[in-house]
Amino acid sequence: MASSWQTARPAVSSATLINRRRPQLAAKKAAAKKKTAVKKVKARNASVTRRAPAIRTTPKLTVVTDVPDRAMVIFAHPDDAEIGSGGVIARWASAGCEVTYVLCTNGSAGTADRSLTPEELVDRRAAEQRAAADFMGVKNLVMLPHPDGGLEDTREFRGDIVRAIRTYRPHTVFAHDPYRFRGFQHRDHRAVGIVTTDAVYPFARDHLHFPEHIVREGLEPHKVRELWYWGADEPDVIVDVSASIDKQIAALVRHESQMPGFNVPQGGTIGERVKKGAAELARGYGFKHAAAFRRLIARR
Ligand SMILES: [Zn+2]
Repeated sequence: MASSWQTARPAVSSATLINRRRPQLAAKKAAAKKKTAVKKVKARNASVTRRAPAIRTTPKLTVVTDVPDRAMVIFAHPDDAEIGSGGVIARWASAGCEVTYVLCTNGSAGTADRSLTPEELVDRRAAEQRAAADFMGVKNLVMLPHPDGGLEDTREFRGDIVRAIRTYRPHTVFAHDPYRFRGFQHRDHRAVGIVTTDAVYPFARDHLHFPEHIVREGLEPHKVRELWYWGADEPDVIVDVSASIDKQIAALVRHESQMPGFNVPQGGTIGERVKKGAAELARGYGFKHAAAFRRLIARR
């Protein structure tokens, strides 16, 4: 731009010209300048240290003790619900909360056993999920027929979740955290997390989304109050599951076909692994076992 050329400093300043004539004085001045700069940095560092001591504190999560009247768990594969939210769901169901499970795939790819056909596996996993849900005290079980590994963010899939929310009307919805970035995550888990988030807000709430539910199926819009993600990198709420963790583990082992996939070290059990993680989470909170989640709360 023309104006910047006009206001630009000359390439060689008048001070530089003087310094060229008197090199010794210039060197002296530069050394003094350097000394002052070092002093300034030292002083600044000292004041920073005084203002913000570098002490690492344990992140403080909000302890939740309230039990809602209705909750829904939306998950990709048979066994994800028990792993992700089993301790809380067992506790809430026994306290009278009406729980609905929404299983999004048939789990047709979840085996390393090459003698099993996908059809046999689907039947086995559906039976295991029914047994686990019954044992947990889950009242409603919705099983969507999407193929394992085949979940996509489509209108059809979002409509399935919206319909389940409008039918069973949960206060709190649990799902996979789609935004975790530490470690690998199954693409179905990400898909369920994202589609559930969108279904909760705004699709289930607003009557002009999926109006056919209202006109043809007689459903009403529903506003979910809280969305809880399991598997979050940065959880913000914690629940005491000391009294329900045994029930969670007993439900989890109903998924017999998945036992080899749980990657438990030799000599250990899945129960020991779940308890070890829950005990680590609970440290500092005054209870023995805990489960932690990232929570979104809808505005009133
Ligand atoms: Zn899964």
